[in-house]
Amino acid sequence: MPSEKRRYVAFTREMKKDYTILAPNMLTLHFRLLMQVLRNHGYHMELLETDDPSIIETGLKYVHNDTCYPAILVIGQFISAIQSGKYDPHRVALIYFQTGGGCRASNYISLLRKALEKAGYGYVPVISMNLTGLERHPGFRLSVRTMIELIHAVLFGDLLMSLRNQCKPYEITPGASDALADRITRELADKMKHDPAYFAQTRAIYRHILDQFAAVPRSGERKVRVGIVGEIYVKFSPLGNNHLEQLLVDEGAEVVTPGLFDFLTFTLFTKLTDTKLYGMGRLRYPLLRAACRVMLSKQKELIDVMKKDGRFRAPTPFERIAALGREVVDEGVKMGEGWLLPAEMLELNDSGVHNVVCAQPFGCLPNHIVGKGMMKPIKEKHPEINLVAIDYDSGATRVNQENRIRLMLSNASPGGAVTD
Ligand code: SF4
Repeated sequence: MPSEKRRYVAFTREMKKDYTILAPNMLTLHFRLLMQVLRNHGYHMELLETDDPSIIETGLKYVHNDTCYPAILVIGQFISAIQSGKYDPHRVALIYFQTGGGCRASNYISLLRKALEKAGYGYVPVISMNLTGLERHPGFRLSVRTMIELIHAVLFGDLLMSLRNQCKPYEITPGASDALADRITRELADKMKHDPAYFAQTRAIYRHILDQFAAVPRSGERKVRVGIVGEIYVKFSPLGNNHLEQLLVDEGAEVVTPGLFDFLTFTLFTKLTDTKLYGMGRLRYPLLRAACRVMLSKQKELIDVMKKDGRFRAPTPFERIAALGREVVDEGVKMGEGWLLPAEMLELNDSGVHNVVCAQPFGCLPNHIVGKGMMKPIKEKHPEINLVAIDYDSGATRVNQENRIRLMLSNASPGGAVTD
C-alpha cells in the first residue's frame, strides 16, 4: 500500500528478497548486461523481450492514443507481461528508467501507475531508476560501484552493437554476427556474475571482443552506410521502429547507430549546463562535474583500445560530438534528445556517413524541433547530407515508412559508401 508520505507504492527491502522486477527492453544486448549488473546486487531482474503487435493494442487500451508512442509501447509491454499469467502479480515489480529531464518522459511513470490502476494492478510497485533522486525506494538503491558497473555494461553493449553492425552486412554466413554478439553477451554476463573484479579488466575484455569479431568471415565488398539517429526509444527499439536496422541491412546498407553511452553522458552534461545557464543545482555541481569526467575517461579507454587495434571504426569522443552540435544549436536546448540529435547527424556526416534516418515518434514535439526542424540548416551547411525523418506511431503504416526509407536509399549519396 502507498505510505502516507508517498503517493506511490514503494519497493521495500522485504520485496527485494522475492519479487521479480520486470524491465522493458530497448536495446537487447545492452539491457541483458544491465540486468546482470542488477542481479549481481541482489535483484531478481527479468528483461521483457516480447515483441508482438498485441503490445500496442494493450498499450492503447490503458493509455490515451495522444500519448508519446514510447510510453504506449512500454506500458503495453508491462501490462501484457503481468496479464500473461507467467508471473504472480503480487510478487512482481516494474522498473522504469527516467532521465529526470523536462520532457514528457519524466511523467511516463505516473502514466504507468495510472494504467496499472485501470488494469486492476494498482498494488504493483514501480521503481524509478534514475540518477537524479526523482523517487526513493527503500529496497532499491544504486551504490557508486553499481553505477560504475552499469556504465561499463553500457560501454560493452555499445561495443557489441557497433561491431555487430560493422560485420553483419558483409558476413559470409548469414546470422553469424548476431549469433556472435548474443554469445559474447552471455559470456560477459557470466563473467560479471562470477568475477567481481571484471570491471578492472575492461581493456582486456574489449580486446577479446574485437578479436572475436575480427574473426567473422566477411566479404570485401563495400556497402552504403546509413546512420540512425532520433528519439532514444524509437531509435534503438526494434519494437518501436518496426525493425529499422534489419530493414536497412536487408536493403543492402551498413547501419551506423551512435551508442547509448552518448545519450547518458548528454543527460549528465545538461545538468551541468543548467548550473551554468540558470544557476540550478550549484551544490551538486562538483559531483556532476566529477561524474562527467568519469564518463569521458571511460569512453576514452574504449576509443583508445579500438584505435590501437585499428580493425574497426571507433566511436567519436563525446566532446567532439558536442562541439559539432554547438555549430547549429545552443547547448541549452535539452528537451527530448536536445542538441545531441542534430549533433549526431553532424557527427555521422563528418565521419563519412552522409545518409541518415531520423526516427521520431509521431507528435514528439521536442524531437520534431531538434530532428526534423534542424534538417534545413544542416542541409544548407552540408549539402552532401541525405536526411530523412520517419514518424513512428500506432497509426503509421509500415509500408509508408519503408517506402520513404527506400526512397532515401535510392538517393543515397555515393559518399555514404565506406571509404576507409
Ligand atoms: S522526447 Fe518525444 S516521445 Fe520522448 S517523452 Fe518527449 S515528447 Fe514524448
